[in-house]
Amino acid sequence: MTEIKKVLNHIGGEWVAPQRGGFIDNFNPATGQVFSHLPDSDASDIDKAVEVAALAFKTWSKTSVDERSKKLFKIADLIEANIDDFAKLESQDQGKPWFLAKQMDMNRVINSFRFFASAILQTENECNVMDAESMNYVLRKPVGVAGLIAPWNLPLYLLTWKIAPALAYGNTVVCKPSEFTSMTAAKFCELLPEAGIPAGVVNMVFGTGAKAGDALVKHPKVPLISFTGGSETGKKVIQASAENFKKLSLELGGKNPNIIFADCDYKKMLKTTLRSSFLNQGEICLCGSRIYVEESIYEKFLEDFVAEIRELKVGDPSQKNTFMGPLVSAQHLKKVQSMIQIAKDEGGRILIGGGTPVLPTEFSQGYFLEPTVIVGLAENSTCVQKEIFGPVVTVAPFKTLDEVIEKANGVSYGLSASVWTSNLNTAQSLAKNLDVGTVWVNSWMKRDLRVPFGGMKASGLGREGGRHSMDFYTEMVNVCLTTT
Ligand code: NAD
Repeated sequence: MTEIKKVLNHIGGEWVAPQRGGFIDNFNPATGQVFSHLPDSDASDIDKAVEVAALAFKTWSKTSVDERSKKLFKIADLIEANIDDFAKLESQDQGKPWFLAKQMDMNRVINSFRFFASAILQTENECNVMDAESMNYVLRKPVGVAGLIAPWNLPLYLLTWKIAPALAYGNTVVCKPSEFTSMTAAKFCELLPEAGIPAGVVNMVFGTGAKAGDALVKHPKVPLISFTGGSETGKKVIQASAENFKKLSLELGGKNPNIIFADCDYKKMLKTTLRSSFLNQGEICLCGSRIYVEESIYEKFLEDFVAEIRELKVGDPSQKNTFMGPLVSAQHLKKVQSMIQIAKDEGGRILIGGGTPVLPTEFSQGYFLEPTVIVGLAENSTCVQKEIFGPVVTVAPFKTLDEVIEKANGVSYGLSASVWTSNLNTAQSLAKNLDVGTVWVNSWMKRDLRVPFGGMKASGLGREGGRHSMDFYTEMVNVCLTTT
């Protein structure tokens, strides 16, 4: 029998058990078996973590930019040196294939640290000469103890997208990873002493959102919350943080359109559409879950898309040729399956998928689902309107540009869109008219860490990335200097 690992909170540089709570079971989604126990932390653990983070802030905020940069580069080097271990652990905890955990998740973790370690060395201060006597310059100060809350789909990737800029700009952090995927966050803490990060600068409190997450959001000594998760949880975060006027960044759900015109590079589009539909089991906020295809190529697209899907390998995440692993949890699988049932009830037709793949006995209790394509749904139906966050896409035809813009904007979300066309006018018109934070023209999920990332409407508040992260993780003080 394999040993079940017990994870502890990482507070003030120490590994500590939760003060009052017990432990919760953490499952390997591929086998459905418990493989670790996680602290079920509550407000008392968050209080302790905030206290030590506030103390550490006094020195970390005064550490030179040079020194902070060196330490962040060192974190990146250490993760790179251990990349295979991190990737395997992420895969075991989340379900995604090993290759993806390495190529997508861990490479991005490393890049985020290198990006912000380098960015802080190149920051310029704003200065405006006003008249003969006066000039204004902007002082940037770290905000304080940052509360960082992450979801389960890209566990360490999204958590470190918050930790790296927060530390770079002089904040200390209290993190609350998802209770479904905490393992790589714990492993990350093991590297901190070797990277020279002082105790108390990074604190990791594990547990549920309702207890540990809510306590972090409400804590009066945490002036900033960066939250990535579902839109309904995002509403709760806004409400719970209102009392203390916190700085908020909310990266929330998506229901992104993938708009395909007949004049596109068809081969490239088809290959990318497979990925944008089903990569990471469709559990990426940026997945193009609503596919709209110009009427003249609609039937051809369906035929080719289904043929490609038949070739996708679903199963053992440790196998090199596996494209999709299991969904993250039994609850989530049930939710996605219920959405497929709703689609059928609402008149949708399942073109492919919808069922459980046949796999070896070892995986018979795992949370696997076939890649699924649904057609024939009305635009106001549940599966077109609501985020499913699994390997399920809807496909519908369109005739005109105006029609597809209306459909694309006809949901409460506004995170991203992909547009496939060789006509620059069409692309520009969509970029102007789609109510989303990112428009990819002839690509998907190409990420440049300098650009503003975030969503409109129910997809979130604020932008992070490049100088937008600097704006979020610092407070600006305008100093007006006048000669006497
Ligand atoms: P979730 O909202 O259930 O949980 C996210 C995190 O919030 C978890 O750590 C959870 O424990 C915590 N949490 C839950 N309730 C809380 C509360 N009341 N107060 C404070 N924290 C609380 O989301 P999830 O199911 O983990 O993740 C999936 C969602 O995340 C999807 O909607 C997806 O689109 C979204 N997401 C968005 C982005 C983006 O960049 N916009 C990226 C990834 C995922």
